[in-house]
Amino acid sequence: MATVVRTDRLPAFRNEPFTDFSDPDNARAMKDALERVRSELGKAHPMLIGAEEVEGAVLVASINPARPSQVVGRHPKGTADDALRALAAAEAAFPSWSRTSWEERVDVVIRAAEAMRERKHELAAWMVYEVSKSWAEADGDIAELIDFAEYYAREALRLAGPQRVYPYPGEEPSLRYIPLGPGVIISPWNFPAAIAGGMTLAAIVTGNTVVLKPAETSTTIAYKFVKLLLDEAGLPPGVVNLVTGPGSVVGEALVDSPRTRFVAFTGSKEVGLRIFERASRPQPGQIWLKRTVLEMGGKDAIVVDETADLDAAAEGIVASAFGFQGQKCSACSRAIVVDSVYDTVLEKVVEHTKKLKVGDPTEPDTFMGAVIDEPAFNKISGYIAIGKQEGRLVLGGESMDPAKGYFLPPTIIADIKPNARIAQEEIFGPVLAFIRAADFDEALDIANGTEFGLTGALYSTDESRIERAAVEFHVGNLYFNRKCTGAMVGVHPFGGFNMSGTDSKAGGPDYLLLFSQAKSISRKV
Ligand code: NAD
Repeated sequence: MATVVRTDRLPAFRNEPFTDFSDPDNARAMKDALERVRSELGKAHPMLIGAEEVEGAVLVASINPARPSQVVGRHPKGTADDALRALAAAEAAFPSWSRTSWEERVDVVIRAAEAMRERKHELAAWMVYEVSKSWAEADGDIAELIDFAEYYAREALRLAGPQRVYPYPGEEPSLRYIPLGPGVIISPWNFPAAIAGGMTLAAIVTGNTVVLKPAETSTTIAYKFVKLLLDEAGLPPGVVNLVTGPGSVVGEALVDSPRTRFVAFTGSKEVGLRIFERASRPQPGQIWLKRTVLEMGGKDAIVVDETADLDAAAEGIVASAFGFQGQKCSACSRAIVVDSVYDTVLEKVVEHTKKLKVGDPTEPDTFMGAVIDEPAFNKISGYIAIGKQEGRLVLGGESMDPAKGYFLPPTIIADIKPNARIAQEEIFGPVLAFIRAADFDEALDIANGTEFGLTGALYSTDESRIERAAVEFHVGNLYFNRKCTGAMVGVHPFGGFNMSGTDSKAGGPDYLLLFSQAKSISRKV
């Protein structure tokens, strides 16, 4: 391994700056990256199991949602056997990696951050093609992954240091953190770099070894990430293994195996609950309780009262509702506005939304690309049809031809009742429900009135209401007078309450403990 990073040589953590694409040099660099990546599209990539590249008998295409005929990458349709082989590889790598010093593990993670920084535009370009992120969204995703790497590296060094235990007469007590064992990372497609990579880096920097099972629609970017860890960051083979294929086969085999020590999952409520249940059942030969870290969906609300800056509120609602086509767990899908300013806020939101450009995300001025795939296109279109019954369509809603790309217009449906389906169920697309509240009290009740509790925002200048919301608005990430998306690593540790998950707070000081167990050691003196 290369030089070891010492704690005192790591500068203080700072968030990776976003790229300013209005600078012509940056815009040119991104265009070049898109061009280079375009010439790489359509290739077949293997699974990465131990030191082996495993081809697989059947290949599945990951396609460009904005141009469904364009194949981004082809990947093996992994089987349950592949999953178990990968788990065996993780198990085999565990004794050595778990005893590798914290500093050496941190060194790998820092080198990964450096490699990603150098190839930022290229990695962003893969996301533009594979999941239809705009330039800014793709750049934000890779910046977040660099942040996770830098942040967890520093947190690991904190855990590596002495932990506080009280003295006891005649003994020398201590506490140290050790890894859990071989685990499984199951990731969604919507932050294909930040979430897949963030969960993986947290697990390995604490000394675990893993099998990464990415969402099928974002497999190519996951492959690029694991290759970077192996080829550029110097990660030993077997520490991270990549198995591709359907969650119902590969994911399930990994979750069920008695050799799996933990599962870190981010995705939908339905799959999260299924994993929660299955992982809780001990299997023959299993000698531990599997730990589960489950981050799931949201039905996030922005509340606006009559004291708010209504222009700022409208801008925040639009950015939160339609950024990345509304496909963020933190996306604003409910605007809850008090009666006296409801019509004004609605009008302003509609005006802003009309200016958004929907189209090919390789174009620099595109704000919204396509939704992820045909099932998502159909599901969201179904919710738009439901919404038209449940309320008043004020913008969007028109159907588009999926053969030309899975594009959907930003859609706003007003006068939605708090218990309507489109106000309760996660749609995960560019559909915003406007809900009228009599006053602030009712708005807060409506905001809390779903089974989720992920993000939320309040626009208000009333200090007493802000104080009340800080206590009563029951979400894992609460914001005042700003949008409810865009959590920054180390600044806004991220995770939700209730059916939004286990509140793991990714990018926060408690996160690495989820991948660790504490060992108390005391010696008589
Ligand atoms: P999904 O639940 O469909 O899939 C997530 C992962 O689980 C994929 O890798 C999939 O292959 C796998 N999977 C599917 N069935 C499985 C099974 N039976 N056993 C094991 N694994 C299985 O979610 P998605 O569509 O990829 O992502 C969107 C969802 O993720 C939304 O609900 C969104 O809110 C949520 N999300 C939450 C957060 C958060 O931090 N709370 C962040 C991003 C996304």
